[in-house]
Amino acid sequence: MHDEAAKIAALDSLIKACGRCVIVTHTHPDGDAVGSSLALQSYLQGCRGIDAPVVVPNSIPDTLAFLGAGMKYIDAEAEPQKAASLIGGCDLLICLDFNAFRRTDQLEGILVGCKAKKVLIDHHPNPDNVSFDLCFSRQDVSSACEVLYTVLSDMPDIAGNISALPYPCRFALMSGMTTDTNNFANSVFPGTLQMAGALLDSGVDRDSIIDSLYRQDRPERLKAFSDMLSSHLTILPGGIACIFMSSSMRKAYALKDGETEGLVNIPLNLAEVRMSIFARTEGDQVRISLRSKPGLSANAFAGLCFHGGGHELASGGKILIPEDIASENEAPAYIARAAARFLQMKGGGINQ
Ligand code: 5GP
Ligand code: MN
Repeated sequence: MHDEAAKIAALDSLIKACGRCVIVTHTHPDGDAVGSSLALQSYLQGCRGIDAPVVVPNSIPDTLAFLGAGMKYIDAEAEPQKAASLIGGCDLLICLDFNAFRRTDQLEGILVGCKAKKVLIDHHPNPDNVSFDLCFSRQDVSSACEVLYTVLSDMPDIAGNISALPYPCRFALMSGMTTDTNNFANSVFPGTLQMAGALLDSGVDRDSIIDSLYRQDRPERLKAFSDMLSSHLTILPGGIACIFMSSSMRKAYALKDGETEGLVNIPLNLAEVRMSIFARTEGDQVRISLRSKPGLSANAFAGLCFHGGGHELASGGKILIPEDIASENEAPAYIARAAARFLQMKGGGINQ
């Protein structure tokens, strides 16, 4: 308790002393990454008078434009020099929704070399504590937004009065928490619902969040989901579901970035499925999303077989071309072999 109070005081002092603050989040930003970034930016601007640009390693998908539109940010892939000079010129760097700089891909080197004070606010296991001056890292929460909510709520100027946070901050916190829990289906703790309740009580328009997140699909997306589920879903031995979307399929479906979000959850609806894999080719790698039911560790599977990690039941990673496979066509067979190996491993993340 005392420790938490000391950490809040330390963050408050860093904010007071800072000249230039920059916010950074992870590559392929999701709702929690964008939501927590916007929430912090809005707090710093509205409550502390600090202009803190957000640097995202690559673009924010159109599906999250309703959050991105309200945020001042730089896409480091589109504007690498601007991103590098912002990071190089800041004296306070606040990192959200990742546990280690390698989750920022090409920004890793610049972030490691950055001389600013570094703060981490995150919910992933195994935070790289030594790389940060101050860490707010918890796993008994739904999202980085939930960790940030507790941090902001404890700040001296807020002192538990959530309504004192600017509206965009509260709206963004609720949005990120909604996406990371898959609309309150997973990773929901007592504090998660308490926070959601307090945000609702403060006037956050949840209907508008639900509408923006789940009721704005293009027909192309529904058609692609329906085709992938009916023609491209394989159930591997041991109840491991796998969907692979090749680059030509992606092109044929005419999907935009972010529009495959959520597909990986659907095979878990089947009673026989214990883990779901969604693989899709992106550039020179096959990106992997993993979701599992309790008893099988998506995190262990991602770490052992896909150069990745994440949370116990929701993780991600990649298959590298040409290091792991010669071409994307080999991805389904590679995944099937990896799944068999993982299931055979004595204690390999399986506890049943
Ligand atoms: P998604 O399937 O939504 O892309 O990712 C699910 C979760 O897995 C993310 O919230 C993140 O924690 C983790 N994750 C995704 N991709 C990677 C990766 O390449 N490396 C690591 N370490 N974690 C990842
Ligand atoms: Mn998250």
